[in-house]
Amino acid sequence: MSHHRATQTRQHWLETLARYRVDPDAPGSAAHWSPSLDCASRDELRAIQDAKLAALTPFLYENSAFYRRRLDRLGLLPTDLRTVDDLPKWPVVDKTEMMDDLKTAPPFGTYTTHDDALWAARGWMMFSSSGSTGVPRVFRYSQIDRELWAWANARALHAFGIRPGDTVLICAGYGPHVFAWGVQFALAKMGVACIPGGGMTGEARAMLIDRFKPTVLTCTPSYALHLGRVMLERGLDPAASSVRTILVGGEPAAGIEGTRRRLEELWNARLVEFYGCTEVSPHCGGYSCEASARGPITAHLMEDVQVWELVDPETQRPILEGGRGLTVCTSLNSESSPQLRFLVGDYTVFDSGRCPCGRTHVRAVGSFAGRADELINLRGIKMYPVELEAAVRAVPGLGDEYEIVIATAPNGLDVMTARVEHADRSVGVHVAREIQTRCEVRCDVEVLAPGTLPKTEFKARRIRDTRGARS
Ligand SMILES: [Zn+2]
Repeated sequence: MSHHRATQTRQHWLETLARYRVDPDAPGSAAHWSPSLDCASRDELRAIQDAKLAALTPFLYENSAFYRRRLDRLGLLPTDLRTVDDLPKWPVVDKTEMMDDLKTAPPFGTYTTHDDALWAARGWMMFSSSGSTGVPRVFRYSQIDRELWAWANARALHAFGIRPGDTVLICAGYGPHVFAWGVQFALAKMGVACIPGGGMTGEARAMLIDRFKPTVLTCTPSYALHLGRVMLERGLDPAASSVRTILVGGEPAAGIEGTRRRLEELWNARLVEFYGCTEVSPHCGGYSCEASARGPITAHLMEDVQVWELVDPETQRPILEGGRGLTVCTSLNSESSPQLRFLVGDYTVFDSGRCPCGRTHVRAVGSFAGRADELINLRGIKMYPVELEAAVRAVPGLGDEYEIVIATAPNGLDVMTARVEHADRSVGVHVAREIQTRCEVRCDVEVLAPGTLPKTEFKARRIRDTRGARS
């Protein structure tokens, strides 16, 4: 790769990013952080995406060995991918391809444009996917990314109604994972106070809420349930606490009605969510707006900084608006790790009609229903963990914790058992009926005494598939 062309294309890419970063440090209006972007016409959004793509592809070609190899292999020139209409020429990239690249070129791979020289000059932080599926993908980000990231997340937090005067309690481990840090840096830009609640027990966090009265709680949905129960055990009522908004990320929640209702009732608070994934950071992709609380659950996707598509799970061909497909993201907002057509892989449906909140960016209707690679196949019947969660949450009075165990019985048949908590064992038939109705599969149910199952702390691992263990 020519050093001159690498530098030249980087310069052009950074200038393009800067040109479209309007309202970088303060909101442009009370309702919208970047009103000219958040409420731009669909044509204007497309023009911004096209301008960014025309600068991005040559930059990737000259600065990422992964992208250069892939373009060469496909017989494409960087100038062949100049507009959104050109994108289908480029087959989607999935995490397996990134993992293979990591194995060939450890420890950072070549799928980013961040090299050792950049890390030395203006490195900021390294982040990593959680590793729940295979080799964790790692990303080094620059100081420029920090600014882009804080700006985009501030736009989402502003849409949630979070303002100076709020105090945000962030309950996270503060490891190399994007969600909590992304919120943290956006709050700093917004001038909103926060309490970093890392490395603490549930009891200590409950005391923080009781004593220091945060108005916003930020954590995973599982943890919000757990923390509410911890408060109740200590004689504190989360519904009567200072928390008015729960900002969740990391797991599907808003789109699962039973889970959303359970959280909102437990805390007497409004649930809003961040949606995205590490590979197409920096920052969230999807976020709730106030219209979503009143009407069908939706999440906006930030289209001036990303291109979102849905594709067919089998053919990976684009799905027309209104159809259900898997999310694919082209990330146009990073110095270190922009990506072309990364398969994020959550099922949803898009609606690009104008939202009552005034935003024009496409909405995911029903929010997001879990990753395609979490699909469970039981005797040929396929279902997602979120569908099982919706079934369990539909039965009133069950404890927050539950577990689905999939195992091979001695007769060779694969069986599924739901382990739930309730004082009354007869509730098992209701759970079995809900699962059969929603997932079309017969499931045994084990009703345990309340408090038997281990408490979830960070991300819940509710599906235990032991079938691979036998062979
Ligand atoms: Zn909206």
